Amino acid sequence: MLIGAHVSPAGGPAKAVARGVERGCRAIQIFNQSPRQWKPTVYDDDKVAAYKEAMEASDLEALLIHAVYLVNCASEDPELRAKSLTSLTASLRAGAALKAVGVVLHAGSALKDSSDAAIARAAAVIKEALAESDGCDLHLENTAGAGGTLGRTFEELAALIEGAGGGKRLGACLDSCHLLASGYDIRTAKGLGKVVDEFDRVVGLERLGSLHVNDSMAPLGSNRDRHAALGEGELGVEGCTAFLSEPRFEGLPCVFEGPGTAGEQVEPVDMAIAWRMRAEGLRARSQPRAKARSRR
Ligand SMILES: [Zn+2]
Ligand SMILES: [Zn+2]
Repeated sequence: MLIGAHVSPAGGPAKAVARGVERGCRAIQIFNQSPRQWKPTVYDDDKVAAYKEAMEASDLEALLIHAVYLVNCASEDPELRAKSLTSLTASLRAGAALKAVGVVLHAGSALKDSSDAAIARAAAVIKEALAESDGCDLHLENTAGAGGTLGRTFEELAALIEGAGGGKRLGACLDSCHLLASGYDIRTAKGLGKVVDEFDRVVGLERLGSLHVNDSMAPLGSNRDRHAALGEGELGVEGCTAFLSEPRFEGLPCVFEGPGTAGEQVEPVDMAIAWRMRAEGLRARSQPRAKARSRR
């Protein structure tokens, strides 16, 4: 598992790599543009070359680009959908230039009408963004389910993927906090195992492209997206440890988005905690009869 962190891209993507290295990451996630502005970033050749050089010299193996939160492919407003299409397409092109594993996207939210109509609108925008770009996958992220956000169930993720054409570039990103908040009980290794079985049945494990490991301040089924530092929320040490050692997640980038234990961005101490949890989880899984509780 390529554990990593969401880091700032200030100063260019090579700087983001340096921040990942400082923190002991094997993967990083960045926004490819200011999260509160529509202005897309196009990386020039120098920036791309510096980024590639930095990646090669590092232990990092994966980059994820998170589409900005302004994007709402399901909006009833055609102008907002058009802006979302432009932004998402720019993210996918940036992902191709930087050879990202994928662009992670919250498909959007429906304010008024039924989720079927919202899914159809979102799927059409996603399909078009894929048609207007090449060389980078799109990972639809499961959501906590607040305010009509699409992707709160595996069935909705599957419907979005199918509606967007079901092509090979369409994948999924599972966020541990959002899973818990939307009602999937992943607080133990056994519970997580059943949820991964269900994901495989409904969406297909071959679609799983990336992971977010965040603990949750809000309880199971609360539909609230409130991240906690690893081990300090409702998932707790046991839930985070299980997520970080799930065998079917092997090889995937798994990013902690924060806030960290210091209450802000992800720091080296948070990555050290994550790597320790993973080691503990692997140990517990190799001794099935030993007590699963961590002695951290
Ligand atoms: Zn996200
Ligand atoms: Zn979240």
